[in-house]
Order: sequence, then C-alpha cells, then structure tokens
Amino acid sequence: MRIRLKRSDYLRILEHARSGLPDEVCGLIAGRIEEDMHYVEKVYLLDNPDACPEHFSIDPRAQLEAIRDMRSLGLVPLGNFHSHPSTPARPSDEDIKLAYDPSANYCILSLAGDEPALKCFRIERATRTTRETDVEIVEYAPLPRAFQN
Ligand SMILES: [Zn+2]
Repeated sequence: MRIRLKRSDYLRILEHARSGLPDEVCGLIAGRIEEDMHYVEKVYLLDNPDACPEHFSIDPRAQLEAIRDMRSLGLVPLGNFHSHPSTPARPSDEDIKLAYDPSANYCILSLAGDEPALKCFRIERATRTTRETDVEIVEYAPLPRAFQN
C-alpha cells in the first residue's frame, strides 16, 4: 500500500503545522483508493482543540463537516494527520492508544529535525503494531485510471 500526495497539499500541511507551533495541529485526508494506491485529493486542516504541544484531538463537529464534504465530492476518508513539534515522526504511546481505526492512515509530520519529515502508519491498537506506509509526494497527482476518460 502506498499514499500519493500532491506537493501543494504537503506544503499546506507543513504551513499549518508551522503556524500552529508550539502546539500540535491536525487534519484529515480524503481521496480515492485504487488497488494498493491511496490518492490524496483533499486535505482538511483542522484546529487542535487541546491546544497542546503533545496532544491533539479532532473536533467531532469539524470531522463530521469534513466527512459530509468528502461525500459530496465522491471522496473517501483516507485517514488523518497531526504534527509533532519536537518529537520524531513516529506514533507516540498515546497515538497508538487512540488509534481506533486499523484501516486508516495515521500520518505524522515532524518538525523536530533540520528538515520536516512526513510519515504515515497503519496502527493496530490491540497488538500495538505500527506499520509504515510509503508516501510519495508528487508535483501533480494524476487521477487513478478508473476516473480518467
Ligand atoms: Zn502524535
């Protein structure tokens, strides 16, 4: 399984994470799935109601609104992202504890190093297993074959 993300969307996530410092920020990603490829076609930048450098939560109302928007555009939810202002792009113990959906992509953008690092994971809470997913950042994400005509 791989995730393909447009550079412009990556830059929006990065800008959101930087503007939220010192706190974590979060958001949702939506798009299309074709075979083992997840195409991110829309990124939802959300506030972190916890306003904290080590925690985030997603406001249920903002989430519902985003899901409605995804449906109206024919997109499927692909997962979420949050920033790690000063820790590596790895799920924290708390991230694992709160990962309720084993089929979602949990993406983490770390601002801790010299360069920002974005990594995405599948998380199985019960077994505390995390599996990293390849992320491709592309200049332009062509639509999956099924949607071209
Ligand atoms: Zn985290």
